Amino acid sequence: MAALPPLREVIARHGLSASKALGQNFLLDPQLLDRIARVAGNLDGRRVYEVGPGPGGLTRALLRAGAEVTAVERDRRCLPALAELTEASGGRLRVIEGDALDVDERAEAGDGAHIVANLPYNVGTVLLVRWLESQDWAPWWASLNLMFQKEVAERIVAREGSDAYGRLSILAQWRSTATIALNVHRSAFVPPPKVMSAVVHIVPKAMPEGVDPARLSALTAAAFGQRRKMLRQSLKGVANALDALATLGISTERRPETLSVDEFVALARALS
Ligand code: SAM
Repeated sequence: MAALPPLREVIARHGLSASKALGQNFLLDPQLLDRIARVAGNLDGRRVYEVGPGPGGLTRALLRAGAEVTAVERDRRCLPALAELTEASGGRLRVIEGDALDVDERAEAGDGAHIVANLPYNVGTVLLVRWLESQDWAPWWASLNLMFQKEVAERIVAREGSDAYGRLSILAQWRSTATIALNVHRSAFVPPPKVMSAVVHIVPKAMPEGVDPARLSALTAAAFGQRRKMLRQSLKGVANALDALATLGISTERRPETLSVDEFVALARALS
């Protein structure tokens, strides 16, 4: 890749002051950005779909790792800086202007792409749910490598029995492995956000047989919709659920956060 000016200079030259409305907190340290890119594994010659490249710090790290990158950015102010990066990339970067929520990312990035993003958490969680609820399993993406505020990252990887455990944990873990790969201190961002962040790494695993995803989703919605209540109360309205609990030997006096992902899967299978 051709030599590039420092990111700070690019940001100053293009007047890219961080916009709060767009949830912009930029990362500038190349070593940290290389570590984040490495979370996805060996990217040499692999395709990556990046959401929200901003001035392109993480994009540079992905290109340094040898990836072919398709990136979608909605802030038009960033496009001239990203065009310079496209120029330097020797044909390995393509930038799409637009809102990631409206992009057909599978068509744009192609099957087998790794997804990498440092996004505002509201957009990040909507996309995460979309990617995890993929109809096809194995899904079209090879891995998800996403920065979240730490509290959201902890909800994604939480185990039963913890306060953070809930619907998002089950969605992320019933047919994937989800880990926190890297904690990122708030001071690494410009400007620094109020909270700490973490990069979550999610890899698909075999889908349990005989489970209807819609059934599992409805079950967790009913169970965690009344988190403080025992299952005999919260699952009263779900047809056959109390019988299925009895058959599986799961006490109806338990609360939803005490059931493991495997127990929710077994329950959904019994009802599917
Ligand atoms: N990736 C850069 C970095 O790590 O320094 C920028 C990260 S900044 C937290 C988030 C970026 O996502 C911003 O550039 C913002 O404009 C962009 N963004 C926010 N919402 C978006 C959306 N819905 N679609 C595409 N990009 C979006």
